[in-house]
Amino acid sequence: MEVLSGLAGACGSTGMIYLMHISAAMTVAAAPPDGLPDVLPALATGRSLGTLAFSETGSRSHFWAPVSKALHSGSDVRVDARKSWVTSAGHADLYVTSTGNADADSVDLFAFPSETTGLAVTGEWHGMGLRGNASSPMTFDVGEASHHRIGTPGSGFDIMLSTVMPWFNLGNAAVSVGLSEAATQAAVRHTSAAKLEHLDQSLSALPTIRAQLARMSIDLASTRAYVDQAAARIAEPVDDTVLHVLGVKAAANDAALRITDTAMRVCGGAAFSEHLQVDRYFRDARAGHVMAPTADVLYDLYGKAITGQSLF
Ligand SMILES: Cc1cc2nc3c(=O)[nH]c(=O)nc-3n(C[C@H](O)[C@H](O)[C@H](O)COP(=O)(O)OP(=O)(O)OC[C@H]3O[C@@H](n4cnc5c(N)ncnc54)[C@H](O)[C@@H]3O)c2cc1C
Repeated sequence: MEVLSGLAGACGSTGMIYLMHISAAMTVAAAPPDGLPDVLPALATGRSLGTLAFSETGSRSHFWAPVSKALHSGSDVRVDARKSWVTSAGHADLYVTSTGNADADSVDLFAFPSETTGLAVTGEWHGMGLRGNASSPMTFDVGEASHHRIGTPGSGFDIMLSTVMPWFNLGNAAVSVGLSEAATQAAVRHTSAAKLEHLDQSLSALPTIRAQLARMSIDLASTRAYVDQAAARIAEPVDDTVLHVLGVKAAANDAALRITDTAMRVCGGAAFSEHLQVDRYFRDARAGHVMAPTADVLYDLYGKAITGQSLF
């Protein structure tokens, strides 16, 4: 988590690319496909870059419900999937993707090396933030796919909940913390250095500015404490681990929106004119919030969990 926060504070895109790599690697490690015997050492050492290709135009941010299908094809299965956002599309070495199961109302996961016949990047990507990403749409039209399946047929939904969600949510929260910390430091730095010469004082000497900086710093500290607590609960599961998996991303995503927004505010025109990098933290922070499971979906799931309703 420290590594992800540190990377994101320096470059949000690099942090997010690394997060997608970890999320893909841990998903493959949960149940390695028999057709990819050497994949784990390559992912672990960084010789191979992984990513997740889950989101679809049809089910949007509801990544747990792919509308694409793994179809029966002779004695094997054929994957036919259109994915709407794939971070590192065209750059990754391994794509972990999802489809509906051919026989049941469940999900299959597959891992495809980039050289697999039938993978294509189908569009450009341009985002308001994370501009170092290539989160483009892709299609997967792959025959004889069963040796690339992660886990048993129909086990994809359980793997998403037990493996993808904890790693992705915690890592995404860590990215939010890194961006929040960078924005807080930049705001303190700028408001301390910027002078109101006619008053012979810095911006940070203004009580309103000081109080905003204090709020940012306290927000950051409490978010970091929650992320640390969630990491401990995920490393050694206890009764409320599920709540932490659901809550940590939503809380850190929202904190990042608040903190980067305040950084823009206290730095004023200096932030707006893009020479402080604060606008970059502000733009980058918005990505984590809408990445699935989105913060608002997580609040909904958390609410279901604490009121005894089934999550899905
Ligand atoms: C920078 C970036 C990188 C990405 N990289 C990847 C990637 O590598 N792999 C991948 O698979 N996907 C990736 N995505 C896609 C991402 O995970 C989401 O699927 C995508 O952002 C959803 O966008 P949408 O407009 O379709 O969301 P929509 O589903 O249309 O959501 C619109 C709004 O409705 C809200 N909403 C939807 N359902 C509910 C609900 N049940 N309760 C409450 N509110 C709800 C959402 O929170 C959101 O605010 C990436 C997205 C971004 C921005």
